[in-house]
Amino acid sequence: MQDNYGTPSLALARGKGSHLYDVEGNKYLDMLSGIATTTIGHSHPSVTRAISKQSKKLGHTSNLYAHQPGLELAAQLIEMTGEKNSRVFFCNSGAEANEAALKLSRLTGRTKILSTVGSFHGRTMGSLSMTGQPSKRDPFKPVISGVEFIEYNDIESAKKAISEQVAMVIVEPIQGENGVITPSPEYLRELRRLTNKYGVLLAIDAVQTGMGRTGEWFGYEHTGITPDLITLAKGLGGGLPLGAMIRLGSKAPYFTPGSHGSTFGGNPIACAASLATISVIRKEKLLARANSIFEFFQSNLNQHPSIELIRGQGALIGILLKKPQAKLIAQDLKLNGVLVGTTSEYLIRIAPPLNISQRELNFFLKIFTKRLNSHAL
Ligand SMILES: *Cc1c(COP(=O)(O)O)cnc(C)c1O
Repeated sequence: MQDNYGTPSLALARGKGSHLYDVEGNKYLDMLSGIATTTIGHSHPSVTRAISKQSKKLGHTSNLYAHQPGLELAAQLIEMTGEKNSRVFFCNSGAEANEAALKLSRLTGRTKILSTVGSFHGRTMGSLSMTGQPSKRDPFKPVISGVEFIEYNDIESAKKAISEQVAMVIVEPIQGENGVITPSPEYLRELRRLTNKYGVLLAIDAVQTGMGRTGEWFGYEHTGITPDLITLAKGLGGGLPLGAMIRLGSKAPYFTPGSHGSTFGGNPIACAASLATISVIRKEKLLARANSIFEFFQSNLNQHPSIELIRGQGALIGILLKKPQAKLIAQDLKLNGVLVGTTSEYLIRIAPPLNISQRELNFFLKIFTKRLNSHAL
């Protein structure tokens, strides 16, 4: 393989629930869920059953033909938005979902895009153009023109940049890749007010925050707004590759025949896995569970002398350290059978499965505080 990921630190062989096993048989508690993706853990029996059943029935149709899991999933996503006029476009990844939003925004007749400093929207050329991280963008210039970056969680910055020339504002409810940066609820409300005033589309990139991760389906609901577009991937497919771009309400244009497409997008097996995952989240009340996971971290770690603060929402949690030891501690945790993520030398990112047990959380807390304390000296 090419070296774009560097040398992986582990070779995995299997997963079960909240645990992963490497090729040597070592067991790990998975507190990152394949970057906020395996929302109900690894190889959940409901998901493996749905995948197996669908693969025996119909595994691929292309988009020349409809299939039941795709239609059913689109209907469920529309219901979750609460907007009957919503329309879904299926693709395979987050980058593609944001590409679709970018292309759709062109149908307004405007071309300017506002995105936020520090944002992450994907690695393909269009989504990269909207990604507010120069280190990822600069080596690939020229990227597409007409994208301007406003400060995140800063409504004054948005006010200065917005106008009737702007087609779309794209924003994450929480900046996951940038360190689980959580804006005030007022921020999205003000962005909605401003975008409405100038007839600008508001796109919520819920690729990381969506599908229950933050204790809501899409990560913006607590603000009370209705966006024009939502993009999804990561947790959507229950571990299988699946992305979606949803157009809400009736203000935004939507794709007409021939305007966009994807051969694999909305594959029946991925849609079946998604439906099974959603059904488990509903049945086991995992949206509420996500919120209690956040409370567990806050009440047990916020006062720790090595920790500056705990931020995030639901089961998307950033642990901000006082000292630049995030990578050291993540490495140490791995040697002790716990996998976490880092987004900088100061930030540990946690995104456990929503159905992680209390016992597993207690185990994490014990190992984590022990390792943290050992480096405090
Ligand atoms: C991961 C991520 C993406 C990109 O998704 P891919 O499936 O890797 O293309 C886009 N936006 C956000 C917010 C993400 O976290």
